[in-house]
Amino acid sequence: MRVLGIETSCDETAAAVVERDEAGAGTILSNIVLSQVDEHAAFGGVVPEIAARAHVEALDDIVAAALRDADLKLGDVDAIAATAGPGLVGGLIVGLMTAKALAAATGKPLLPVNHLEGHALTARLTDGVAFPYLLLLVSGGHTQLVLVRGVGDYQRWGTTIDDALGEAFDKTAKLIGLPFPGGPNVERAAEAGNAKRFAFPRPLKGEQRLDFSFSGLKTAVRQAATAIAPLSGQDRADISASFQRAIVDTLDDRVGRALLRFRELYADAAEPALVVAGGVAANTAVRNGLTTLAARHGFRFIAPPMRLCGDNAAMIAWAAAERLACGLVDDDPMRFRPRSRWPLDRDAVPLVGSGR
Ligand code: ATP
Ligand code: MG
Ligand code: FE
Repeated sequence: MRVLGIETSCDETAAAVVERDEAGAGTILSNIVLSQVDEHAAFGGVVPEIAARAHVEALDDIVAAALRDADLKLGDVDAIAATAGPGLVGGLIVGLMTAKALAAATGKPLLPVNHLEGHALTARLTDGVAFPYLLLLVSGGHTQLVLVRGVGDYQRWGTTIDDALGEAFDKTAKLIGLPFPGGPNVERAAEAGNAKRFAFPRPLKGEQRLDFSFSGLKTAVRQAATAIAPLSGQDRADISASFQRAIVDTLDDRVGRALLRFRELYADAAEPALVVAGGVAANTAVRNGLTTLAARHGFRFIAPPMRLCGDNAAMIAWAAAERLACGLVDDDPMRFRPRSRWPLDRDAVPLVGSGR
């Protein structure tokens, strides 16, 4: 089964074709991602109206390029999928309406996809990981620990009580004068920095609950930066490195606790897996920290390849293919409306009758 996927929930215009075979193995036939970074850089963040317009201008060409790269015609795909939420509503409208038009014109099934489900199931596309697994979703808008029991079957164990982790990276970058997008720039600056120079807090460390908090860390960064302003290049590097070290320590504590809970629940699991997903999963220090943590607990660790960490349409096409394979499809997708908010564990199973 081949699915054309469309992703326009934030500032990437993306289209991809993914194949899922009878045995459940996935292959990416094409994966086109056009980043709007340059259009938003001058504003220091994503401007929703600019994003929506840019999606309108680019999407037709991006879809055509995805089909061309896959060496397919529109009529050759078995279904059409688009991110229907959560995200910036202007962009969601552009992607979902385009998918509806393509579905109407071809008579192919339409699948509105939850963007977070795309991130959550990527490890099954790349590594064929079996259910259940523990997911750490760390992106620009979300920071969650999720028990993934099956397609559409998610249980959220913890979430951030304030900022998302990607947001914390982005705000830290802004505070210390590093350009947008913040995450990759903080990572780069940290390479030359002294992680011991600043003793930033490890929020919620040691607590039983599985939630996260990053706003106190951000405040500590602001105070440190204000105290030594104007910042030199070395100051920026040291703050970045100290911040990143605090993040890695915090994840070690919070995720470690979740691994223990997973063990208690699935004591018989031969090779339990920890999966990381979302844009922050591209961070090497974060990946290394989680690799060590998983090994310490006897978990297999799976991180998507870098190009599938950030937003892409292959994950959207794949999530749709997984849903199609088990019949978890909406009964009236043409009436599905974009959802700016759409928690992964809310009416994720089944989609039947929802969306209006
Ligand atoms: P969501 O998936 O929650 O809707 P989003 O789609 O905007 O949000 P992603 O595209 O998955 O999020 O991830 C973008 C985030 O990842 C940004 O906050 C960015 O700074 C962060 N990020 C990207 N690369 C890195 C990196 N190397 N280190 C740290 N953070 C990074
Ligand atoms: Mg983005
Ligand atoms: Fe995302």
